[in-house]
Amino acid sequence: MLGLVLLRGGCSALLCLWALFLPVDSLHAVNDPPQLLLVSFDGFRWDYVDRVPTPNFHSIMDEGVYVEKVENVYITKTFSNHYSLVTGLYSESHGIVGNEMYDPALNQSFSMETDSMYNSRWWEEAVPLWVTIQKAGGRSGAAMWPGSDVKIHGMYPSQYLPYNASLPFESRVEHIIEWFSAPKQEAVNFGVLYWEEPDESGHILGPQSPLMDGVIAGIDEKLGFLISELKKAGLYEKVNLIVTSDHGMAQLSPDKIIELDEYVSRDLYTWVDKSPVVGLIPNEGKLNEVYSLLADANPNMVAYKKEEIPERLHYQHNIRITPIILEAKEGWTIMQNRTGPFMLGNHGYDNALQSMQPVFVARGPAFRQNYVKPSMRSVDLYPLMCQILAISALPNNGSLSNVQDLLSPEMILPTATPPPPTPPTLSRYSYAPVVGSFLGVVMVLGFLVVYVVFVTLKQRPSLKHRRWEMSQPLLQEDLQL
Ligand SMILES: [Zn+2]
Repeated sequence: MLGLVLLRGGCSALLCLWALFLPVDSLHAVNDPPQLLLVSFDGFRWDYVDRVPTPNFHSIMDEGVYVEKVENVYITKTFSNHYSLVTGLYSESHGIVGNEMYDPALNQSFSMETDSMYNSRWWEEAVPLWVTIQKAGGRSGAAMWPGSDVKIHGMYPSQYLPYNASLPFESRVEHIIEWFSAPKQEAVNFGVLYWEEPDESGHILGPQSPLMDGVIAGIDEKLGFLISELKKAGLYEKVNLIVTSDHGMAQLSPDKIIELDEYVSRDLYTWVDKSPVVGLIPNEGKLNEVYSLLADANPNMVAYKKEEIPERLHYQHNIRITPIILEAKEGWTIMQNRTGPFMLGNHGYDNALQSMQPVFVARGPAFRQNYVKPSMRSVDLYPLMCQILAISALPNNGSLSNVQDLLSPEMILPTATPPPPTPPTLSRYSYAPVVGSFLGVVMVLGFLVVYVVFVTLKQRPSLKHRRWEMSQPLLQEDLQL
């Protein structure tokens, strides 16, 4: 038993002794927390990567993973989808059900274009990943991600930029690099980076415009800038990088306009959200009247009472979803009349439409290399990110098992949550295990030396006995006779 204990102790001590001779960088690598940067180019449709040469997107695909189509969440608007990416929830569950909303309990309206969005209560039906990471002792950094400059559950990201549309992409990247490459105690584990294009150009030009080619190429250059800055900072091989978007973009036409004024009087309802999924609140007692006026009004528009919204859209169970929604068919625009502003591109339509689906590429130590996956759901990204960051996911609508094939084999664990307790490892902050192991080695070696000396001495005749032998050789012989 003692031998077994000694054997085990000796092996463990030898391993620790070996660790003593590892380069310091290797010791750091053993314990470096994982880092992940999530980038969104607003409105970057899934097929833009093959429309013009996009060498930077393709380099990530070659070195990492590429998901050809991502089913995002209904409605396919910016705020809903950005919040789904960082919560893994459908919009009915996270509460950001559109870019424009009305909450009857709060008796407030929300608009992404006003300060109303800074009321925390809009966001607190869910917990974004940056809050979860910080509560677990990590750090996060946010460069303009929708909602990231709002105090949610008492917290801002550890580092963040107040929203400022005029801050150039390059400046946002500078902050991200700074946050990721800070000394270990201050470095962020999770970063989010947002850029408004190609969404803005897509709305103005329409996705079919040849001018969009240059816009898409410009986004690829921006991605190239990010990659080169990550490389310069020594972060590119260390930080897991996900590049995706919130939605795609559909081509509109001035010939495809539905004018509500033709079918129902404005006096009967309040207009909440904009085309292509218009939220209406009928006046008190007017629900059935408004609905019946709109139900079969136009073949290019579907009217739903809230309780009839198809289950597959996961867009029903929230008081911010209006009693009636009107959904335009792809490419159609719903307006009250033609005097309103008109755009050549838009999103928000059914998330089953390919035109609404965003791009997805990723690379880094957590990901497989040169792997193509045909499709995924955007809500599955959240449990995937939690797995990469080694934190417990909160309840969500996604599933890691749907997307874990994107991960390198060593990242795939039997279960993502809860993570196993961290075994004691070597870190740059604590050399106590090293010192302890060293003492262990010394003690084992000391014991062995004492043991060998003891056995050797026991087998040798004593000095007194040897002297006696030397002085009495004949007597001994005599005695033997
Ligand atoms: Zn968007």
